[in-house]
Formats: sequence, structure tokens, C-alpha cells
Amino acid sequence: MSIDPTLDYDDQNIFAKILRGEIPNRTVYEDDYVLAFHDINPQAPHHILVIPKGAYVSWDDFSSRGNDNEITAFVRGVGHVAREAGLVDSGYRLMANIGHDAHQEVPHLHVHIFAGKPLGPMINSG
Ligand code: 5GP
Repeated sequence: MSIDPTLDYDDQNIFAKILRGEIPNRTVYEDDYVLAFHDINPQAPHHILVIPKGAYVSWDDFSSRGNDNEITAFVRGVGHVAREAGLVDSGYRLMANIGHDAHQEVPHLHVHIFAGKPLGPMINSG
């Protein structure tokens, strides 16, 4: 079920629990601002999620309330994770779902990194 991106941050969401260590994850990268881990239900040979450690519902929330250090660290973190995973030469796709029409399911900002095969058209028109 998709979430309402206008709601306040829910600290019981699954990624908040991962950040608190209450639920295990397969961590790829971590620094003071960013955590990256493998998606539990991968949609491509490489499917990594990158999240800010701050409490932000979505890209909309983060881009308006995030401070410059958080935003810089997040953008650099996404690039770093993809680079370290060796995805630059073959290419990769970034995706961030925001709200209902995009089917955002977890109300904590996350960027998906997909790679490892030709990824097909940019968007499913169905
Ligand atoms: P969204 O649809 O919100 O953009 O994507 C949410 C993603 O979170 C999905 O790809 C889903 O597989 C992933 N996910 C949901 N719960 C968990 C979990 O407990 N652990 C991990 N690693 N990924 C999860």
C-alpha cells in the first residue's frame, strides 16, 4: 500500500527500525548521515537502497527540510555506493518514489539503485 507523503514522520516505519538496529539489514555502506543496504526483494541483480539517517518522509520532505550537510552527504553517498559496487561502467538507474502515484511504500526517504542487466524502458506505461 502506498503512503501519504504529507503525513508527519512515523518513527515506527521499517527503515526507522533498521536505523535503530531493531531489524537486521545487509549493510553496503554507512557514514554519519547515510545508510545503504540491499533491498529485501531485489528487482534487479543489484538493488541497493540508500537512506538518510535523518527523519524524512520523502524526497519532497528532505529537499525542503534537510540541511546542507545532510543533502550533500546523501547525494555523495548514493554516488559512492554505486561507484564502490562497480556499477558506473555498465550503468545504473536511480529511483525515488514519492507518494501515491509513485507507489511509495515505506515512509522514510530512500533512493533505489538498480543495476546488473539492461533495465528496459524508463517507466512502465501500464
Ligand atoms: P518503495 O515502494 O517505498 O519505493 O520501496 C520500498 C522498498 O523497500 C521495496 O523495494 C521493498 O522491497 C523494500 N523493503 C521493504 N521492507 C524491507 C525490509 O525490511 N528490509 C529491506 N532491506 N528492504 C525492505
